Amino acid sequence: MRMILVGPPGVGKGTQAALLEQRTGAKPLSSGVIFRSEIEAETDLGQLAKSYIDRGELVPNGITIQMMVKRLRAPEIRAKGFVLDGFPRTVRQAEALDEELAKEDIRLHRVASLEVSDEVVVARLGGRIGCTKCGEIYHQVTKPPKREGLCDKCNSPLFVRKDDQPETIRERLRVFHEQTAPVVDYYEASGLLKRINGDQPTETVYSEIVAGLTG
Ligand SMILES: [Zn+2]
Repeated sequence: MRMILVGPPGVGKGTQAALLEQRTGAKPLSSGVIFRSEIEAETDLGQLAKSYIDRGELVPNGITIQMMVKRLRAPEIRAKGFVLDGFPRTVRQAEALDEELAKEDIRLHRVASLEVSDEVVVARLGGRIGCTKCGEIYHQVTKPPKREGLCDKCNSPLFVRKDDQPETIRERLRVFHEQTAPVVDYYEASGLLKRINGDQPTETVYSEIVAGLTG
């Protein structure tokens, strides 16, 4: 299974990516987790990415794409497939990804666009807490950790990510509408796109994502 999940912050892309991994073996790849693993492994790309993040700047497309492609070439990903979560974020990244996939002779099965209103996003993201180490996301109301302030998976401290503070949620939505919404139009033209109402139970969204897919 080789898939891209597109949608605003808080729509549940991470949850669906985790379900896809459990049930199909496809590996979730998000730029955040890839950045963290390259930075922790102190690779050249990781160090370069960190220099931008430390200055509060966006990691340039070229570096992000190189990290993604490095992961897409990994034997495990070749064998089991992948679910891109939160990438590509811009039409430019989508074009670059297409080129790289074509070079590697990797064919995408589907691009699922999970769609919800801004109001739903704001309600969902308030209360999110993330793990400092593994990237797992919890919610103070809908998915609390078993022990307050600690990750169930790796025992690391949890924190309200800067991304999930109220004043940044509106800004993230603005950036999403400006940069990422055109990515949906881009894939619409490819015939791979499926639009899904993201304001439904997790299992309903999941069955719509995989409907009609094999492999
Ligand atoms: Zn963790």
